[in-house]
Amino acid sequence: MQSSLVYSHDLNAYDLGTEHALRPERVEGAVAMMRSHDLLGAAGLNVIEPHPAGREDLERVHDAAYIDAVIRASALGAPDDLSHGIGAGDTPVFAGMHTAAALVAGGSIEAMRAVLEGGDTRSLAIAGGLHHAHRDRAAGFCVYNDPAAAIAWALEREPRMRIAYIDIDAHHGDGVQETFWNEPRVLTVSLHESGRYLFPGTGFPDERGGPLAKDSAANIPLPQYATDACYDFAFDAAVAPLVSRFRPDLIVSQNGADALHSDPLTSLGLTLGGYRMLVERISALSHRLCEGRLVALGGGGYDWQEMVPRAWTLLAASLLGREMPASLTEGAGPVLREGAEEHLLRRTREVVAEVMRGREY
Ligand SMILES: [Zn+2]
Repeated sequence: MQSSLVYSHDLNAYDLGTEHALRPERVEGAVAMMRSHDLLGAAGLNVIEPHPAGREDLERVHDAAYIDAVIRASALGAPDDLSHGIGAGDTPVFAGMHTAAALVAGGSIEAMRAVLEGGDTRSLAIAGGLHHAHRDRAAGFCVYNDPAAAIAWALEREPRMRIAYIDIDAHHGDGVQETFWNEPRVLTVSLHESGRYLFPGTGFPDERGGPLAKDSAANIPLPQYATDACYDFAFDAAVAPLVSRFRPDLIVSQNGADALHSDPLTSLGLTLGGYRMLVERISALSHRLCEGRLVALGGGGYDWQEMVPRAWTLLAASLLGREMPASLTEGAGPVLREGAEEHLLRRTREVVAEVMRGREY
């Protein structure tokens, strides 16, 4: 089984500013840690270079007017109008933004290409996973939606393909869901902290896909402080049966590490052991359903010095089927008062029942 990592230092150019939460150093740190655990090179992930996504690649998932606005803002280093969500709060403009964002999108397309054309079974594009970008606007730190661009590229190349997208980022994968809302060849499944508490405020069980693609979207909004046991239950009772029933030819995963309990921007309770359990189950699903074909992307993750590199090293190991030393998952878990976990589990069971109600699976 051949597997690859799409990576180059040039991806660091996606930098929203020194004071911004999304640090490019987290990708660097993760790749360095993968290397120190012998996960890269001849016996591990073969490192391949990303190329910038072309205009045609971006236009599959974004409006031409939006791309033009990004290009103009990118040249000025400032937005010339705020109509496309760029330069407004979360997603500040920086000089060279278009080129940097196009390289991230191109990296995820390259990861897809490695599996569809390059003979790889799985591939990892760790700087990718910018799942909040919409067709006509930037949002939530995301300029171009690389998961959507990679999936759209694959569908154009192989129109009969069925792709399951599994998103474990703490935030709802709204942009990807929106892109494929009416697309029966793509199932989007997002496990996230409930939009009642967290950006982008969407991703509820009643969001199930458009009229041409009924039940092609599934959303599992977890309560705040949801623990490993909540994730364990939700994965087994919702994610695995839904994806199995869909019979995908390939799985794309978004592996944001911001559901970890120490994350400064979110309020979930996942430990590194829980994160490993999730990425290993996604990997096992791909073996069971689609001969191991898996394109794994990064995503959020703001405890970037300590936890994100460890999480993404565990992700890389899961793609290779490698055991990692216990030291990688060590550390204190979230502190909950007595009885809280039972309450969170009960709440998760209710949410999952709502997600599964009336679905065929
Ligand atoms: Zn996130």
